[in-house]
Amino acid sequence: MTVLARSTEAGDALADRIITCPLPGGWRGPTFPVLNPATGAHLTDVADMGPDEAKAAVKAASQALASWAGRTAKERAAILMAWHDRILQNKDELARLLTLEMGKPLAEAAGEVAHGASYIAWFAEEAKRLYGDVIPTNDPNRRMLAIRQPIGVVAAITPWNFPSAMIMRKVAPALAAGCTVVIKPAEDTPLSAIALLQLAGEAGMPEGVLSLVTCRKPAEIARVLTDHRDVRKLSFTGSTAVGKLLMRQCADTVKKVSLELGGNAPFIVFADADLDTAVNSAMLAKFRNAGQTCISANRFLVEASVLPAFTEKLLARIAGLKAGDGLEAGTSLGPIINEAGLAKIDRLVTTAMEQGATLLTGGYRIERPGTFYAPTVLADVTPAMDISKAEIFGPVVTLSAFETEAEAIRLANDTDYGLAAYAFTREMGRLWRLPEALEFGMVAMNEGTVGSEAAPFGGVKESGIGREGSRVGIDEYAEIKYVGMGGIGAAR
Ligand code: NAD
Repeated sequence: MTVLARSTEAGDALADRIITCPLPGGWRGPTFPVLNPATGAHLTDVADMGPDEAKAAVKAASQALASWAGRTAKERAAILMAWHDRILQNKDELARLLTLEMGKPLAEAAGEVAHGASYIAWFAEEAKRLYGDVIPTNDPNRRMLAIRQPIGVVAAITPWNFPSAMIMRKVAPALAAGCTVVIKPAEDTPLSAIALLQLAGEAGMPEGVLSLVTCRKPAEIARVLTDHRDVRKLSFTGSTAVGKLLMRQCADTVKKVSLELGGNAPFIVFADADLDTAVNSAMLAKFRNAGQTCISANRFLVEASVLPAFTEKLLARIAGLKAGDGLEAGTSLGPIINEAGLAKIDRLVTTAMEQGATLLTGGYRIERPGTFYAPTVLADVTPAMDISKAEIFGPVVTLSAFETEAEAIRLANDTDYGLAAYAFTREMGRLWRLPEALEFGMVAMNEGTVGSEAAPFGGVKESGIGREGSRVGIDEYAEIKYVGMGGIGAAR
């Protein structure tokens, strides 16, 4: 299970190799199906691992730790870069696999693979900069140091909406710091994870440094990982509800946790904004991945005087979206991941209408194979409605009007979430003061996306703990150790 042993024909395209042979060498245990959400087609069957496999993966990671941590940063960086290069060489195949199991349009999938790989290159460099401090001493006989060391074995639990990038964003800083990692991918999307591990093995990743545990039912595997004394860190991306559960489970062994959780992003448009920029950005912030991203715009707050114009422009753009199989040219809106996700969106929209929202377009499941929801716009949405409080995770725009900057800020901050926020204005003072007033970990001003390997990604409030990417991302996987040396004496 550590790095998958395969008896595949060399030369076959990577996606086909993974689909025809997804099982670790010698696997005789149960399996579970992976489906294509765009067609409902059965893609393949993947190993349904249990607690024994999870424990074995932790053991392998524990055994590999000392030698991996003992390598120089330059050696670890070289292996990370070999992995990065193999990923980019196989970008198209990884994207195809990702679209097959998750549904997002192929161009978005290719963008995700490249985005994820950028974290590997970034942290390969950061590995060499895990500096410590020499601290001015408080006693002439003492020398004082602070060194940064790998935290140990890391468990990484990842979601289905970015099956490739979320793995790379966690694994890269962990390996760079000298940690070893056990990954548990989402049950809907294990194939991208299998492919990434396959490429890691081919890139020379030593045995045990990176392991994968695929399973249909995550709770018991997560329990092994959170309870295990050898696992010193949990890095989780997923829903706030599961994040809270796992944080509680980690309390008994006082594990360090990083939690990248759900969001409820406001998208604020002031009357002085460039409306075309706002609408272009809205299309990205709302309809990328069919609205299934943690940073998706969830609540559109538009200054009353420009609400009619903004709505008209947005509806015109939405009419041009083309729902379909992500592998087909021209598709701009992929499916919802599964029936449960579709039912949740439909319930939120129906309830919003019962609570007084006005349906401007959409509001139905698209009748075709797979799990598709029509791009939807609801007007007259109020903060009291369920849809304003929930993370919609679908292609649904909710429109509300505001009159003043203070009201916009109050409405935007009226949520327990705090991941991303978007705001559009051309007023210079507001451009500076608004991000300071918004209670979110990331604020995009006059653009429709956040997220770069060079920028800190993460949330405040119930959207999470910790940051991924940027120069601080590696700190999540390092401990600071103080070293005091007595009896040294003064140099002169
Ligand atoms: P999820 O919480 O259902 O699942 C995430 C992971 O947790 C999966 O691997 C799943 O198998 C596992 N899991 C589910 N139930 C579990 C349980 N009881 N015990 C242990 N593990 C369990 O979330 P999802 O539906 O896969 O992903 C969507 C969520 O992820 C959204 O809320 C989204 O906002 C969030 N997300 C956050 C970020 C971020 O960076 N903040 C990025 C992507 C997604």
